[in-house]
Amino acid sequence: MKLRILQVNALPVLLLCLFTMYGLRAESPGQFVPGIKSERNFLRQAPAYSGISFAVIVFRDVGWSEAEITDVIAEASRIYARNCHFTLDVTSIRFIEIDARLHHLDEAMQQRLLVELGDIDRPIVFFIGATSANDAAYAYLQGTVSPSQGTAWLSRQATTQCRGPLLAHEIGHIALQASRHSRQPGNLMRDSCHSSNISNQSINTDLNQQQCQTLWSRYTP
Ligand SMILES: [Zn+2]
Repeated sequence: MKLRILQVNALPVLLLCLFTMYGLRAESPGQFVPGIKSERNFLRQAPAYSGISFAVIVFRDVGWSEAEITDVIAEASRIYARNCHFTLDVTSIRFIEIDARLHHLDEAMQQRLLVELGDIDRPIVFFIGATSANDAAYAYLQGTVSPSQGTAWLSRQATTQCRGPLLAHEIGHIALQASRHSRQPGNLMRDSCHSSNISNQSINTDLNQQQCQTLWSRYTP
């Protein structure tokens, strides 16, 4: 089976939307920098700049609009900016036209797709329809021999309010080089989007000092 791959460079459109919607400032093309500064004490140690760059690939015709993608990336960016003064930097956005069989993605099809897409710098974030495993989102750490290494996958199975946090969580697995989950209440790297406290259904979006320092040490130029 040949997968149809259609490349559309939508980045200028998305960036224009972002600047309009959030008043963001860009220090280099494609950089998602929300104007949010947190007052957490340890952030005084934050380097002048640290951030992770990644490519975005969107499955066409599974329901994602450009506005939704912009919102999700901007929400994930806000989480990193608020917690760690850390930046998400989107290097390119491609829309690909896919076979209907990929609307419910399984691991074999996913690996085949990655082989067909060829050599793309990691990390790559995919916006997909659904997965055969019913996971709303997942990621593969970088540096393994698998074609899936360094990829994060966000499906439309995720609820609207969890999409930004889930994207941030999956990028977190890759950026922190950690497959394990945090048990700290409220931590972004817990194994669910929502707090387990039923009386307080808040969303887990915190990163702690140790996590921020790991990001700074890995991604400060
Ligand atoms: Zn996870």
